[in-house]
Order: sequence, then structure tokens, then C-alpha cells
Amino acid sequence: MKTARELSNLERVLNSDHAHGDGVFTRSATRRLRSLTGVGHALLTTSCTHALEMASQLLGIGPGDEVILPSFTFPSAANAIAMTGARIVFVDIDPETGNVDPQQVAEAVGPNTKALSVMHYGGVPVDLDAISAIGAFHGIPVIEDNAHGLAVRVGERMLGGIGSLSTQSFHDTKNVHCGEGGALLINDASLVEKAEIIREKGTNRSQFLRGEVDKYSWVALGSSYLMSEFNAAVLDSQLDEFESIQARRLAVWTRYSAELQEWAGESGVRVMNPAQGIHAAHLFFLVMPDWESQALLIAHLRRFGVMATFHYVPLDSSPAGRRFGRVLRPLTQSEDFSRRLVRLPLWPGMTDDEVSRVIAGVTSYERSTAS
Ligand SMILES: *Cc1c(COP(=O)(O)O)cnc(C)c1O
Repeated sequence: MKTARELSNLERVLNSDHAHGDGVFTRSATRRLRSLTGVGHALLTTSCTHALEMASQLLGIGPGDEVILPSFTFPSAANAIAMTGARIVFVDIDPETGNVDPQQVAEAVGPNTKALSVMHYGGVPVDLDAISAIGAFHGIPVIEDNAHGLAVRVGERMLGGIGSLSTQSFHDTKNVHCGEGGALLINDASLVEKAEIIREKGTNRSQFLRGEVDKYSWVALGSSYLMSEFNAAVLDSQLDEFESIQARRLAVWTRYSAELQEWAGESGVRVMNPAQGIHAAHLFFLVMPDWESQALLIAHLRRFGVMATFHYVPLDSSPAGRRFGRVLRPLTQSEDFSRRLVRLPLWPGMTDDEVSRVIAGVTSYERSTAS
């Protein structure tokens, strides 16, 4: 959805002499992000993928280390581990939510475990108490990939505020976007200075710009992970309208939830039903009764002009997953969830008619007649 100030903000950047990172819109968007998430330190980055890579580097993950990761997640989290030379230990999910199963995380912790990496699927929180307890008990940092769960509140806590480090995505498939972009949220304050250096090509340029040092130099390994001001200009406008974007997404989500209940009950389909209604209205999923029905429903909806999709193919059995990871046992829940899941279209600009068409398409699906 296009928000009100994107064009005028972009024009301001074009007419200024500051289009690289860390300008006025980066500062403004960063402030908005801090206030939305309650996290004290945030750095805008070129992507969530890059923020995950920064997290690996900040935690000193490297050869000989292991990092625990759910198999049902986006490849970026796995790349960020494997690129360092560390090994991934893939674990299974809770089939109710698609989130990591804390029991399996606990079993996977070993002498070489350097970090736990979790993802809140659809912005539905992982079992925060269990994951935090495992991390604290073993003294292992938690990385939260919060690409789906921007500003989701869980009681007194906020997603993105639980792990030592967490990441956001502003890719244009996410709730708030700037084409391509991301952020690293830093809850462990001891990592802030190092994070600034990694993001600025391994230099202490951030300190120089604040007048803390009189020249800047190469002080550590780093790369260029700064978001450009063009992207920040769009992001700032999007974050400004976060509440209304969320309200529109939630309206679609709520209609699916209410109007598909009866059909689902009759068809042996499970509809997304997060505990305490906590989610980010990022996606809405159905869990079909068997593997065949996934392709059948997707094909049926396509005939209605409705684009429904599956989601993550389990990483542990993927070609790169086999090379860079290991499992303690077959991850049957990840495979089953992946093969039965269907996501319905959900974007903030959807009209009531478009939502009605999706619902009509779904409720006209009958397993026996679909083929
Ligand atoms: C989109 C996404 C990413 C990658 O985000 P980019 O900003 O495109 O790098 C990582 N993890 C999850 C869970 C995502 O949904």
C-alpha cells in the first residue's frame, strides 16, 4: 500500500545532497521503529538477510560452532549461520503454529551450541518463556527473526525485544516496506558499538560522525549494510502509517477467520487460530487434511483468479540444508506442515469484494470434486 508521504519524502532526498545512509529519514524511521518495538537500539539495514548476517558476526559464530534453527523457516536465517562456517542443527516445529518446538530445541543443545535462532511465524510468538529459559539456562544468545512480527505485543513484552538481537524485514511482501530493507534491533547494549562498525564497512565512521573520534579508520571486519536514504524516505512514511496499515490487514484477516470457520469444520481443514488472538495480520493460513489437498485447493482457487500459495519447503532436506546442517531425527512436523499449508492472499489494499471472492472460492472447494 502506498502511504501519504512517500513521494514528497523521496523528492526531499532527491533535492538534497544526502542520498546515502544515516540521513534525516534514516534517523526519523529509526526513531519510529524504536518506539513501535520498544527496543532501545535499532540500525536500518539493506535487508533482513543482511541483519541476520550481522547477528552471526556480532555473536562471533564461526567454524566449530552449532546454531539451532527450525527447519520450517526462510533460507536467510540458515545462510547467515552457514556462511560463517558454523553448522546448523535443524529442529522441528509445533504443528499448531509452525513455530519452533522448544522441547526439540532443549534436546538439541550441546557443547558446541553458540546460539538459538527462532522465527515468529505470521507474527505469532514462539513460546517466549521456554525459549528464553533455554537460552538463559545454557548462557546461549537468542536471535529473533521477527520479519513477520513487527510491533506485536505479548503482555508486557514485544516481539523483537526478547532475543539478544532481532531482525526486521522491510521487503515489499512485509507489513511495512520500502522495496528492499531491514533492521537489526539490539537488546544486548554491549553489542551496539560493534554493530555500528560492522554496518559501516568495518570502520568507526558512526563514532566519527557523532564527534567521538577525530578521524575514522578500519577497525574490524565489516561490510556495507546501510539502508540508503531513498529507501528510508519511503520507510519513514510507511512506519508513520503503521496503525492504519495494520487495521486494514487485520480487517481482512478477521473476515477470513470468521467466514471460513464453518466450511473448515465441515471439510476437515484447520484455519489459523493463534493463542490469545496474538498475531501480526501478516498472513492467514489453512492446514489441509492431507498433502494432496494442498495442490488441489491452490489449483481450484486459481480457477477463481485467486492466487493462494504454499510456504517454506523444509530446509533440513533441501540440497544446501543437507550440506550445512544436521538433524537429531526426521523432522516430520515441518514436512507435514509444509505439505498441507495454504496461504490466502492478504494485503492492506484488498477490497471487500476481493476478500469475498477469496472466501467464495475457498468455500466452494470440495475435496471430492476438486480434481
Ligand atoms: C522476508 C523474510 C526474510 C528475508 O527478508 P529480506 O528483507 O528480504 O532479506 C527473512 N526471514 C523471514 C522469516 C522472512 O519472512
